[in-house]
Amino acid sequence: MDKRIEIVKGDITQLNTDAIVNAANSSLLGGGGVDGAIHRAAGPGLLEECRSLNGCRTGEAKITKGYSLKARHVIHTVGPIYRNGQDNAILLRSCYLRSLELAVSNGIKSIAFPSISTGVYGYPLEEAAMVALTAVNDFLGKDDTLEKVVMVCFDDRNLKVLSTAAAGV
Ligand code: ADP
Repeated sequence: MDKRIEIVKGDITQLNTDAIVNAANSSLLGGGGVDGAIHRAAGPGLLEECRSLNGCRTGEAKITKGYSLKARHVIHTVGPIYRNGQDNAILLRSCYLRSLELAVSNGIKSIAFPSISTGVYGYPLEEAAMVALTAVNDFLGKDDTLEKVVMVCFDDRNLKVLSTAAAGV
C-alpha cells in the first residue's frame, strides 16, 4: 500500500488536512451522519454554497470552501445506496477517484475520507474498505502531487476492518 495512506480513528470534522470529504446525499443540502456533522462544524456558509451547486450524482464529486472547519475545502461526494444487482463497487470506487481528481485539480496536498456509504447507505464495511483502499492506492500509483490521504474511521470496528483490509492491498 502507498505510504501516503494513513488510517486513523477520529472525527473527520476535526482534521486539519487541506480538504475533507463529505459522504453527502444527492441534494447536497445536508443530512445525518457525517454529512450533518460536517455542516454543523462548518457553519451556515457551507449550506448556502451547496444550494448553488444543483446537487450531485451518485459516484461524482463537487468542491466547496470549508468555512469554519480547519480544512480549507470540503469535497462532497455521493456514495451508492447499497442494492443487490447494482454496480455498487463501481459507483463507490468512482466516489474516491472523482474526489481525488478534484483535489489534485485544486492544488490540494492532503485529504481525509470517511468510510463512504457504510452508514445509512448500508454498504457492508469489509467490502467497502477494500474498494476504498484499492481506489486510493490505484490513484496514488499515478499521482505524485498528493502528500497524504487519511482514511478516517469513526469507531473501533471501522478501524479494525480498514486496518485488516490494508494488509491485503
Ligand atoms: P452514508 O450515507 O454514505 O452511509 P453516513 O454518514 O451514514 O453516510 O456514514 C458514513 C460513515 O461515516 C460511517 O462509517 C459513519 O460511522 C461515519 N461517520 C459518522 N460521523 C462521522 C464523523 N464525524 N467523522 C468520521 N466519520 C463519521
